[in-house]
Amino acid sequence: MTSTTSTTKTVDHWIGGKSVEGTSGTYGPVTDPATGAVTTRVAFASAAEVDTAVAAAKAAFTTWGQSSLAQRTSILFRFRALLDAHRDEIAELITAEHGKVHSDALGEVARGLEVVDLACGINVQLKGELSTQVASRVDVSSIRQPLGVVAGITPFNFPAMVPMWMFPLAIACGNTFVLKPSEKDPSASMRVAELLTEAGLPDGVFNVVHGDKVAVDRLLAHPDVAAVSFVGSTPIARYIHTTAAANGKRVQALGGAKNHMLVLPDADLDAAADAAVSAAYGSAGERCMAISAVVAVGAVGDELVAKIKERAEKIKIGPGNDPSSEMGPLITAAHRDKVASYVAGAAAQGSEVVLDGTRYTVEGHPECADGHWIGLSLLDRVPVTADAYKDEIFGPVLCVLRVDTYEEGIALINSSPFGNGTAIFTRDGGAARRFQLEVEAGMVGVNVPIPVPVGYHSFGGWKDSLFGDHHIYGNDGTHFYTRGKVVTTRWPDPSDAPAGVDLGFPRNH
Ligand code: NAD
Repeated sequence: MTSTTSTTKTVDHWIGGKSVEGTSGTYGPVTDPATGAVTTRVAFASAAEVDTAVAAAKAAFTTWGQSSLAQRTSILFRFRALLDAHRDEIAELITAEHGKVHSDALGEVARGLEVVDLACGINVQLKGELSTQVASRVDVSSIRQPLGVVAGITPFNFPAMVPMWMFPLAIACGNTFVLKPSEKDPSASMRVAELLTEAGLPDGVFNVVHGDKVAVDRLLAHPDVAAVSFVGSTPIARYIHTTAAANGKRVQALGGAKNHMLVLPDADLDAAADAAVSAAYGSAGERCMAISAVVAVGAVGDELVAKIKERAEKIKIGPGNDPSSEMGPLITAAHRDKVASYVAGAAAQGSEVVLDGTRYTVEGHPECADGHWIGLSLLDRVPVTADAYKDEIFGPVLCVLRVDTYEEGIALINSSPFGNGTAIFTRDGGAARRFQLEVEAGMVGVNVPIPVPVGYHSFGGWKDSLFGDHHIYGNDGTHFYTRGKVVTTRWPDPSDAPAGVDLGFPRNH
């Protein structure tokens, strides 16, 4: 998987079932966010190297696309067992390059495994439909077939889980896959590639090319790439969707988010405060399903903010490989500084700064002096015009907005350009039901702050949080990675009278 120089290790590409050294001469740095040290360099693929990976995937498709469901699922079952056995190892790779705490990294592997579980049962999902005797001696069957070579382009914040939202179902459906993971934390996907090969996946069915816009743009333009799955920020998602669609590809592009949590006056405020803190500051806020805006209805605001503050102050920040740490660093120093700038400018834009985490140093870990650290920030009475509310900050900054009524709250949420996840906290079933129907978001939690659907339901947002028609994994995933074919069959009986010529449009009778 890697080669080592005197100072750093190198992450190479994975093409045709083996590690392939980069030839472009371009590399990117991979940093341990806890220490700030560059630990690894990752090869950046040229367009020609992407072409090599797509060619390997195309060649593999000729046999993999024809392979039996039994063959595919037996490999996936073996892969599932290997992944399960290597959870800790993959979580350690994630922590070393992303920074999230080990328990959180383990959680991401577990949620990725759910989609592998689903892929192991692809035979059920692909069993098609048959209608007999739709007309005299005529049967109709609907089948779904793989697309060919499909590409996945993934973000830094879930280096194991988000690729697993894509490739298990894609390859289970008979496609071959080229993954372009985030260049910031590339090692987990290489270990997954090794495990797939160990599970018996034929060479070329799963390939990994690392890199930046050069590699992505080649995948978007390559005539042999049939479909593109993307997860990342909204501006890039929009670009991917537009470009891939213009090039005739099927595309699903999941973007960024601003997830609201509506707290009604009758809510259990302790449960709501626990949920808000967990969902806002978990993974240092670097989750697309993080709660970043709490909307407090009526008189609950003061008590709720006090309870959130009390809990947030107790969160232990430290390196992800220290079991006592609850929150790790941010991905880069530049991102940390950008997150801090929202808090620094908050008061001038009308917010009350309840907690200011911008100046933070980790105690007890001298090796972490240059890490990308930031503390927890809590902003209250945030105006909807403030940058901290309008932008996806993607850091440990929670905004609280105050409204007088449910109606005002839902209008506020629905005016957001994002529509990824949202949640309501209440004891009123009628209000919760109304919220489910009225809110403009793809994933809704009722007293559940991070409503990430299980693997056999689909994940996806609305509005600027998803471009394309399909959500990811679940039934939508199988649908995205296959195309339909309908076969209409007549087997006449020898006793039938000849049908004769009939130029009329065929009717069933
Ligand atoms: P990003 O958009 O910067 O990068 C995502 C991928 O796109 C990476 O592989 C990157 O190399 C590539 N890329 C970046 N710039 C590009 C360009 N100009 N042209 C072509 N490719 C480019 O996102 P990120 O910072 O890695 O991840 C964080 C973002 O992802 C957040 O906005 C978060 O909300 C979002 N996200 C969304 C979901 C979801 O399900 N909706 C899930 C996870 C993360």
